[in-house]
Amino acid sequence: MKILVINTGSSSLKYQLIDMTNEAVLAKGLCDRIGIANSVLKHSKDGSDQVVIEKDLPDHKVAIQEVVNVLVDEKLGVIASMDEIAAVGHRVVHGGEKFHDSVIINDEVMKAIKDCIELAPLHNPPNIIGIEACQQIMPNTPMIAVFDTAFHQTMPTHAFLYALPYEIYEKYGVRKYGFHGTSHKYVAQRAAAVLNKPIEELRLVSCHLGNGASVCAIKYGKSVETSMGFTPLAGLAMGTRCGTLDPAVISYLMEKEKMSVKDVNDYLNKKSGVLGISGVSSDFRDIQAAAESGNERAMLAMDIFCYRVKKYIGEYSAVMGGVDAIIFTAGIGENNGLIREKVLEGLEFLGVGVDSKLNEVKGKETDVSTPDAKVRTLVIPTNEELAIARESIKLLK
Ligand code: AMP
Repeated sequence: MKILVINTGSSSLKYQLIDMTNEAVLAKGLCDRIGIANSVLKHSKDGSDQVVIEKDLPDHKVAIQEVVNVLVDEKLGVIASMDEIAAVGHRVVHGGEKFHDSVIINDEVMKAIKDCIELAPLHNPPNIIGIEACQQIMPNTPMIAVFDTAFHQTMPTHAFLYALPYEIYEKYGVRKYGFHGTSHKYVAQRAAAVLNKPIEELRLVSCHLGNGASVCAIKYGKSVETSMGFTPLAGLAMGTRCGTLDPAVISYLMEKEKMSVKDVNDYLNKKSGVLGISGVSSDFRDIQAAAESGNERAMLAMDIFCYRVKKYIGEYSAVMGGVDAIIFTAGIGENNGLIREKVLEGLEFLGVGVDSKLNEVKGKETDVSTPDAKVRTLVIPTNEELAIARESIKLLK
């Protein structure tokens, strides 16, 4: 059974075709600069070198048609016809309170996803366009929605509610939703496999540290707390996002800098985080290189980033009444041993112990703890596409 996984952004579309008999990636690629000049389709099959095809991609429907064309292409393709695809799994960022799990998309589901646009105005519209384009091109293939928010729907009310007048929650659904759920769930399941213990017996802190970053407390297989909130702006300092902030700073900034609502939103989402602090880059490779050559603000950006992750680990250990393992995943979490080391420094009191040689690992599932450490530290590469494909198969069955 083959599953096509689609992850649509505002001007991009990532895809993977996965054979679920052995979970092998048959082909994957990216449509970039959709609706912008110089758009391209980057495609690779069976792990071979990427082919870059310059194509005019005025909208997502054309992009998906080009993905279909390349998948069945005689030379670049990997299937004879689209009939071989059992289902298309779509990443959908926001499912609000309606979706606690992945679902097969029908008219009612589509309406509910559209109702969530207000909660995720930047993310849900491209996801919807992606689904509708696939429905038009593959009308007989089941479409599946896998939500970033669904895994966090198990958070208790006292964890997800803000201390605002209660009617704001009732009227507008203003509450903590949390994101990166597909990734947190996937790495938690892998952690249970690595530790050879049932997930129902584990208290895990999952640190998804990429350009977007969040921490999640997973108690006995369920998300009980997470650092992102009503939107993906809350929590950690990220590549360009400020993370948690005294809300009074916002009105102060608007007044002092004469910022509109849009200005301040852009400022906090696109110009802040480690980019804003360092003035160097949003990418940790650049920041680390600058820090190593003596740039003090780059050092400060790394310190602030690591300090916040450490605080969440402490907080979530308290929330769960202890912690059995800390998971590091995503671009920084999987590849940057220095950041892992700085995050965990001083957490020996919890029972954390890291083997510095093992901690040099990059992108490979590894227990990097010392043999006597009571709290295990695990590096686990995330795989959101495979997680989406697995959810799709589960629903088809
Ligand atoms: P993501 O959003 O998960 O793609 O993560 C992006 C972040 O991960 C950037 O800050 C990168 O610097 C970092 N990153 C990605 N790949 C590597 C790598 N191979 N080595 C070190 N850092 C990496």
